[in-house]
Amino acid sequence: MRTPLIAGNWKMNKTVEQARALVAEMLPGLQAVPSVERVLCPPFTALMPISAMLVGTEIGLGAQNMHWEAQGAFTGEISPGMVKEFCQYVILGHSERRTYFGETDQTVNKKVHAALANQLIPIVCVGETLEENEAGRTAEVVARQVCDGLKDVSKDQAAKLVIAYEPVWAIGTGRAASGEVANRVLAEIIRPALAGLFDTPTAQKIRILYGGSVTAANAQEFFGQPEIDGALVGGASLKPAEFVNIAIAAA
Ligand code: PGA
Repeated sequence: MRTPLIAGNWKMNKTVEQARALVAEMLPGLQAVPSVERVLCPPFTALMPISAMLVGTEIGLGAQNMHWEAQGAFTGEISPGMVKEFCQYVILGHSERRTYFGETDQTVNKKVHAALANQLIPIVCVGETLEENEAGRTAEVVARQVCDGLKDVSKDQAAKLVIAYEPVWAIGTGRAASGEVANRVLAEIIRPALAGLFDTPTAQKIRILYGGSVTAANAQEFFGQPEIDGALVGGASLKPAEFVNIAIAAA
């Protein structure tokens, strides 16, 4: 009942020219998997040209971050309205933003509200570090990120949200979580936290993705799990055939 979703997080990769070439290469393959919601998240500079390439397709476009303020003296920032000109989605609270750019559950929460107010679908990233995992703190950390990040969101708005569970130790390391372990975090921590914040029917509607070293080779292990509704893909989303095969695995 939840439509599978795969999103490619390109991170800080690709000039406009390179981005166009990458999309041209993967577009036919992606278009052949209509049962999966497919989203590309290139860097800001490529959003305008890539949005033009996606006109007439059902492939969505997302930004990797944004500010929560509508406009003003915030040098170097991009507003929700600017993202909205080209995108339908926005990744919020990615662990790289939390680690390197001081993103907190409180700033994530402001951004979630700003995204929803602008009819953007937030893909909210949560996940524990290796240290937290080894200290047995996964449940506490992930539940806190979900509850504080989604504070004061209404039930109606919540149903549109997407959560990405990305254990930090699995991101870009080639060391993915096992499907079973990831599924357990979704089943025992994230969905119950969502049910507590909203209610059980609403929690059942929210898509929860897995992210962290997803490849075409291991995608099926995740998509075969009952709670995992798709993937947020980093490195493998820069390889056209690989990303298309991940989409096919999600169908
Ligand atoms: P990865 O990145 O697939 O390269 O591990 C995932 C992410 O950071 O979203």
